[in-house]
Amino acid sequence: AKTSGRHAARLFEPQMQAEADARLELERGLRLALQRDELTLYFQPQVDAEGRLAGAEALLRWRNPTLGMLLPGGFIHIAEETGLIHALGQWVVDAACSQLREWHRLGLADGIHLSINVSPWQIAQPQFADDLAARVLAAGIEPSALTLELTESALLGDFDAARQTLQQLSDAGFRLSLDDFGTGYSSLASLQQLPLDELKIDRSFVVALQPDSTNPLAGFIVDIGKRLGMITVAEGVETDEQRTMLAALGCNLMQGHFIGMPMPAEEFQHWLAACHAT
Ligand code: C2E
Ligand code: CA
Ligand code: CA
Ligand code: CA
Repeated sequence: AKTSGRHAARLFEPQMQAEADARLELERGLRLALQRDELTLYFQPQVDAEGRLAGAEALLRWRNPTLGMLLPGGFIHIAEETGLIHALGQWVVDAACSQLREWHRLGLADGIHLSINVSPWQIAQPQFADDLAARVLAAGIEPSALTLELTESALLGDFDAARQTLQQLSDAGFRLSLDDFGTGYSSLASLQQLPLDELKIDRSFVVALQPDSTNPLAGFIVDIGKRLGMITVAEGVETDEQRTMLAALGCNLMQGHFIGMPMPAEEFQHWLAACHAT
């Protein structure tokens, strides 16, 4: 057994070493990315039931010099494990604010909101709410123009601390959205204790929408939102049929490939200009 164990260890070693190297490389690259201006925000439109533009979700992209355009799924977890998520999160806020200010300057963004994704690690920082409010105000942006999207996992650790941070953020004027709602573990009781403005219906519930389904979970979530005074936003809307069904269920905002793909700022600006013209 001893020899085969050593044999196994030798077999796995090169692969594990390669994985560790790749990770270290990404971590090193991510540190540099912040300095070298390799990060960028894409914007995915959100429209109301009548198709009017309400705003956009800002989605992070990394123009990696060797690997090409990387999606957040490929690097956010590394940022979280290494603590880089705090600097990254600040970059996202600064970038979103300066973009929004530019659109305000052009007279294109009246009443338009931007949604920003916030990691549970950021919420867990005691100074997060104060720092964020200071950053946003210093950038000349009204906190109410920003919606902070957090996932249920942000509530898993110290619930009271998280609730307190959310209350501070809400008091500062930020809108708060619970992302991927229904896929995590938050209870209805905890929902009621939090100053949330919005529930985001996870894509899995949108995919599950069928013309013949009598009891769609997406409708259930819309109803919960209504009862608790929150708006609902559906993500991952890919077909006209889904859009129509969600509108019929009373969902307030829609987002997804059928509405518009995540796009660079220049391209989203055309959306803003078009909605301004009408
Ligand atoms: P999310 O917040 O659930 O964002 C929605 C994801 O679904 C995005 O992936 C978006 O591109 C994708 N998507 C949009 N419409 C459709 C559709 O119709 N069909 C399908 N199949 N997918 C659609 P993306 O951009 O790769 O982002 C993945 C996740 O990374 C996000 O999930 C969010 O949790 C995280 N993320 C993105 N930007 C940031 C950021 O700035 N900070 C942090 N902490 N996390 C971020
Ligand atoms: Ca999100
Ligand atoms: Ca989501
Ligand atoms: Ca999702």
